[in-house]
Amino acid sequence: MPLDNRAVSHLEARLRREIRGEVLFDAFSRGRYSTDASIYQIEPLGVVVPKSREDAAAAIAIAREEEVPVLPRGGGTSQCGQTVARALVIDCSKYLDRVIAVDVEGRRARVEPGVVLDRLNRRLRQDRLFFPVDPSTASRATIGGMTANNSCGSRSLRYGNMVHNVRGVDALLADGTAAWFGEVPGNFPADSNGGAMPERYRELVRRMRALHRREAGEIERRFPKVLRRVGGYNIDSIDEGGHNMARLLVGSEGTLAFFNEIELELQPIPAHRVLGICHFPTFYGAMAATRRIVDLGPSAVELVDRTMIELSRDIPMFRAVVDRFVQGEPAAILLTEFAGDDPPENLRRLRALVELMGDLGFPGAVVEATDPAFQQAVWEIRAQGLNIMMSMKGDGKPVSFLEDCAVRLEDLADYTDRLTRIFEKHGTYGTWYAHASVGCLHVRPVLNVKQELEVRKMRAIAEEAFAMVREYQGSHSGEHGDGLVRSEFHEAMFGGRIVRAFEEVKDAFDPQGLFNPGKIVRAPKMDDRSLFRFKPDYRHLPIDTALDWSEWGGFAGAAEMCNNNGACRARDAAVMCPSFRATGDEQHLTRGRANSLRLALSGQLGPEALVSEDMRETMALCISCKGCKRECPTGVDMARMKIEFLHHYRERHGLAARDRLIAYLPRYAPYAAHIAPVMNLRNRMPFLANLSERFLGLSAGRKLPQWATHPYRNATPPPQPSPRPLPNPPPLAGEGRVGATSGEGGTRASGRVGAGGRAVVLLVDTFNRYFEPENARAAERVLTRAGYHVVSPDPARGRPLCCGRTFLAAGLVDEARREARRMLDALAPHVAAGTPIVGLEPSCLLTLRDEFPAIMPGAASKVLAGRSQLFEEFVDSERSAGRFTLAFAPMEGRTALLHGHCHQKAFDTVDAAVSALQLIPGLNVETFDATCCGMAGAFGYEAEHHALSLKIGELGVLPKMRAAAPGTLLAANGTSCRHQIADAAGRQARHLVRILDDASAAIGG
Ligand SMILES: Cc1cc2nc3c(=O)[nH]c(=O)nc-3n(C[C@H](O)[C@H](O)[C@H](O)COP(=O)(O)OP(=O)(O)OC[C@H]3O[C@@H](n4cnc5c(N)ncnc54)[C@H](O)[C@@H]3O)c2cc1C
Ligand code: SF4
Ligand code: SF4
Repeated sequence: MPLDNRAVSHLEARLRREIRGEVLFDAFSRGRYSTDASIYQIEPLGVVVPKSREDAAAAIAIAREEEVPVLPRGGGTSQCGQTVARALVIDCSKYLDRVIAVDVEGRRARVEPGVVLDRLNRRLRQDRLFFPVDPSTASRATIGGMTANNSCGSRSLRYGNMVHNVRGVDALLADGTAAWFGEVPGNFPADSNGGAMPERYRELVRRMRALHRREAGEIERRFPKVLRRVGGYNIDSIDEGGHNMARLLVGSEGTLAFFNEIELELQPIPAHRVLGICHFPTFYGAMAATRRIVDLGPSAVELVDRTMIELSRDIPMFRAVVDRFVQGEPAAILLTEFAGDDPPENLRRLRALVELMGDLGFPGAVVEATDPAFQQAVWEIRAQGLNIMMSMKGDGKPVSFLEDCAVRLEDLADYTDRLTRIFEKHGTYGTWYAHASVGCLHVRPVLNVKQELEVRKMRAIAEEAFAMVREYQGSHSGEHGDGLVRSEFHEAMFGGRIVRAFEEVKDAFDPQGLFNPGKIVRAPKMDDRSLFRFKPDYRHLPIDTALDWSEWGGFAGAAEMCNNNGACRARDAAVMCPSFRATGDEQHLTRGRANSLRLALSGQLGPEALVSEDMRETMALCISCKGCKRECPTGVDMARMKIEFLHHYRERHGLAARDRLIAYLPRYAPYAAHIAPVMNLRNRMPFLANLSERFLGLSAGRKLPQWATHPYRNATPPPQPSPRPLPNPPPLAGEGRVGATSGEGGTRASGRVGAGGRAVVLLVDTFNRYFEPENARAAERVLTRAGYHVVSPDPARGRPLCCGRTFLAAGLVDEARREARRMLDALAPHVAAGTPIVGLEPSCLLTLRDEFPAIMPGAASKVLAGRSQLFEEFVDSERSAGRFTLAFAPMEGRTALLHGHCHQKAFDTVDAAVSALQLIPGLNVETFDATCCGMAGAFGYEAEHHALSLKIGELGVLPKMRAAAPGTLLAANGTSCRHQIADAAGRQARHLVRILDDASAAIGG
């Protein structure tokens, strides 16, 4: 149904008038909803985010009247293109996310379609129940999306797919009929409930039964007899003796009806699990063994191949776990889980597994994991399988189109072997992983779908592979659904007669063709490049970047790393993405930003999109926490992209007064510090606070950081500065030499020499120097007491060094580069001498490690990056090396509660902070999982962001700090975190160096 612009405007106007929910029709929003996790991109007509089921129904009614197709949407993580269409998108994920009722006795739950699986399971845990279908996307997959995709998980061997676990669906048909789709008895419609059913529903039941009666023989012949068959409609589930109509909706991919409510069957959480990690020297050996292992009755048998093991070893957050569970260099491992309420029985089966592996010729090849935390860590790596694969940089990417074919276990080894040879024939390869237990292995050949030739290869591989699957009587669509990529092949796989039956189902439910057209039936060609994300005319607009993006093949290449897998939509784990957690908006999500940038950089949003107001709004709530840098599985680094964006935006639109005031703080701080009492008046006089809000946009409700009357200064007068800055340093000298601490580079020693110790450069940032100088003094004292020679790198004359963080936050990359150059020159002799560079403020010190190489590419910045450490990292590494032996007074019975700054988390330094605090005997150190505190540099001080900043803080950090028992030592190394905690939780957190200082002073050290 092609619509002209007037018709679309009319549709938008009606929606705005007639529904309460959000109506998004601007180009950026449509762009953000034009992709799922597949290779496709189709721009929708507009988006509705309904606030209630009535709202959704009203929007669907309007669409029907305006003859506009409708596309329901959850997390948008589908891999086959079922969640893209030229339609009105109804996004259920923001408001339709209630758990309506839980029947603990009957083990049932009724939920709205937008509930995310992990959230549901968290809610059910209190009743020791869970919903057992566990796709890897559990952190963001919605129950509506899972139902419509007939999703499956690692434990489908035991629990089955969605179709086996959905009991009923309260659905809205295209004609506006709402009906409960559930069990229909054999004697229908003469049963007692028949009268309560709308006639339209009863008619559907009759038609479906008639269809089944007619096609039973063909269904028996053509439907694969494997558990993992999710292709087509589930007409095999229809039974005249009684059947569940909800099963027809399961797997319907939004093409038959809109789900208002879903009833799920729940399971008790198994009390005990064990994991046997079976190592195989050959891939074929693992495949051949799977059947024998499955005979032992495991709850899961999951494959991880060598490529994936190696890729995960390259990812810092996985390395330690991989090293713990992988012995040597296996070609493949099978993660075999036994679960149940009887621990001895699970252990007995684990022993049987060990024996079986011995019998199969693999003695000693099982690593036994009985510790739940260890098991969880191993499963997490398996769950990240696809994402680990997608971390591949460059245009060649593992492409999803035959990644979940399923065959019988007896065919598994041959099937994988032959498919590998098909890949080789086409000059590519694939990485294998996932559900060995049910013969459904994920594999994605690496292809560059930007190129016509590679697209043809894709088609050829698909045709050959599906023909082979048919030969094995397997299923071509075993998990992720049909969408655009597989629906076309139903004819070849099921035969024409079954496909006509599928069309009959579609027409019976949705005669007008309202819901999600072109999926499951009447689909376009899977290799129609006009539907691709990278269409034939896809190109990058020329752009002079301020940062170095060569690692990604350019700025656009970095944005293209987002494959829409939606990990950034997770609401409860780790840091990413605080702005989305607080708003629930696709716009304020890492993915939404990456997609906006990709579309802008390829000219799809118009020539000036990169510097537009829409783009500014898209980036405005990114608080540069770097959560995505660490947690986005494909390495989308939005904090860095924001710097690049701001650079271009500022060049076009200039700098606002507030941004100037914050950015240039390091430059004027030395002068402002002289009039600290005057500067601090703003915090004491409400009218000044009001003026600062009115004219500068700094929230009057916030206290600004307090200027110290005695900022941090070094004890000894500086020597003469070097007449010239040093060039790139020579290769690193050996560590441990003392002496290159003054002279060239204009540096000076503090004069507080410890017991003949090593030199350490203490880099004191602007914030600690001028606002909390006691932290710097404490660091100096601790290091000196520990016997180090504390060196200040600051120039002898002029203002202290600065990392340039505030400039970067404003997009002033040239100014930041100037600061970085100064820093690099001043530190060069120390770096050359192998002196550790130690800093206190995570966002400042880690700028040296993260942004310096991007603003000043070259060996010098790389070496400096490698040499720079946070205080706690330094203490921890020195302790490990036996050099940090300072004694601390015991703090028996006391607890330190540590909030890790987001950048500490991004660089994995929280453990070091814990270790440093644990040097204090008897001190119990606790950390907790939470996203950002919400302050995020200057963000929380900005009037328009004050409320949101608090909202983000309330997601974890603030309640945790508030609830800490009196007497708990609250530790937070970030300046802004400490301010947020003081402001909004009314508690005083301190940099950990202060706690160490107190404890070492108490012992008289
Ligand atoms: C990295 C990665 C790993 C994955 N791992 C797995 C896995 O292990 N197992 C697995 O099965 N899948 C997996 N998937 C696929 C996908 O995550 C799942 O299918 C998931 O259940 C989709 O949920 P969603 O909320 O994102 O749905 P969406 O993609 O938003 O929607 C899916 C379908 O549901 C329809 N829909 C959504 N809401 C409604 C509604 N209210 N009424 C009617 N129709 C609706 C949509 O129209 C669409 O056709 C994976 C995907 C990725 C990217
Ligand atoms: S930004 Fe990263 S985590 Fe989010 S969808 Fe894109 S690839 Fe996934
Ligand atoms: S830097 Fe933080 S706020 Fe910005 S996109 Fe990444 S996770 Fe979200």
